[in-house]
Amino acid sequence: MTGRPALTPLEAWVKTRIGLTPDRDLTSRDLDRHRIDRLRKVLIYARQNSPFYRDRLSGLADDFPRGLDDLAAIPFTTATDLRERSLDLLCVSQSDVARVVTLPIDDPAVPPRRLYFSDHDLERTVDFFHFGMTTLVRPGAAVLILMPGKTFGGIGDLLKKALARMNARGVIHGPVTDPDRALDDLEKSRADCIVGLPSQVLGLARHPRGRDLPPGRVKSVLLSADYVPRAVVRELEDRWGARVFEHYGMTEMGLGGGVQCQVREGYHLREADLLFEVVDPVTGAPRADGETGEVVFTTLTRRAMPLIRYRTGDLSRFLPGPCPCGTVLPRLDRVSGRVAGRVILGSGDMLSLPDIDEALFTIPGLLNYAAGLDAGPGVDRLTVQIYAGRRDRPEILTDVQKRLLAIPAVQQAVARGRLTLGPLSFSPADWPTSGTIKRILKDKRMEPTS
Ligand SMILES: [Zn+2]
Repeated sequence: MTGRPALTPLEAWVKTRIGLTPDRDLTSRDLDRHRIDRLRKVLIYARQNSPFYRDRLSGLADDFPRGLDDLAAIPFTTATDLRERSLDLLCVSQSDVARVVTLPIDDPAVPPRRLYFSDHDLERTVDFFHFGMTTLVRPGAAVLILMPGKTFGGIGDLLKKALARMNARGVIHGPVTDPDRALDDLEKSRADCIVGLPSQVLGLARHPRGRDLPPGRVKSVLLSADYVPRAVVRELEDRWGARVFEHYGMTEMGLGGGVQCQVREGYHLREADLLFEVVDPVTGAPRADGETGEVVFTTLTRRAMPLIRYRTGDLSRFLPGPCPCGTVLPRLDRVSGRVAGRVILGSGDMLSLPDIDEALFTIPGLLNYAAGLDAGPGVDRLTVQIYAGRRDRPEILTDVQKRLLAIPAVQQAVARGRLTLGPLSFSPADWPTSGTIKRILKDKRMEPTS
């Protein structure tokens, strides 16, 4: 194969969904026109139908926004707003709600976030998944889905519906709780594409039966998460010879947010339905292309619960310059971490979960881990518990220690006497029981009082 990589299928999707005829090329001006037009409509709709936005947006003039530059003057919506006022954010009657999703909570003291979707909202997601999946799946193929949501409107269900529209077959296995059973399903379904969370798919590739799959048996993998460790992508490609693509999305986006094209550098975004921005996480000011900041999005077509300038807590940037696939659609770089997922060590060095991911996922036999930071007397203590399937291999723990100490922030904090490595241990379980759990770096130190 020579020449240019295939154009992202999202370009044709955006073009038709924003009402352009097939004979016309999509331009950046078309995109901007769509964004501002939809944004005006969503502001009117939200103010008319949601008590929360009636209050929050009461200071905006009626002809607002006049252009996309005005976007920065619109107040943000935060995770706290979702926790405290989710019913006030609702724009339709409860009978028009087709699905309610309650997000898992880390802290039992705070109310959970609830998201509401109408049939129309779910259909928009299926439509996006349909076009997005044509990047990596051909008609007639079977796809093993290791994501939750077999029930109506869940991610598995929506993805299966999307695949059916391209004559592909989705087989919902759900999150992997027993790798043997997941590999049985891979065999039985003859799926040659897998959709799942990075650590879960890695776990299958490291399982003795997964390791023995002939190269090319799994042709493509779609990893979906807020952060996809490069170490996992590399290993899946080396071990299985599969092409690994990344999807970026969260429940608040209606599950789907963006997907890589064949170039696999950054995500093309769900432009017909979502307007993305990157802002300074502290001041909230817009960041220029190429500069990292917090990802913020506005739903442009959501009916049940539109979100306006919702702060995701994810860190990324717009990649400068056009994508080599030839589209005019911008690209959001792979997410580099969470705003809240970074901790400042006593030494002043910053440690993030992605740092630990990249260090530990290269260790053969490691399936997942949990990390925590405690306050010791004058020093912080980093503890790590790992899942390895087998607990009779102490050399894995030696490896964990070695790789942690190779992370620059850890190395420097240890050298300055401000950090020690606490107990590094095996989890009593062989496999992380909840497939959907996200790794977190738990900061158990007291918050400084100001
Ligand atoms: Zn591209």
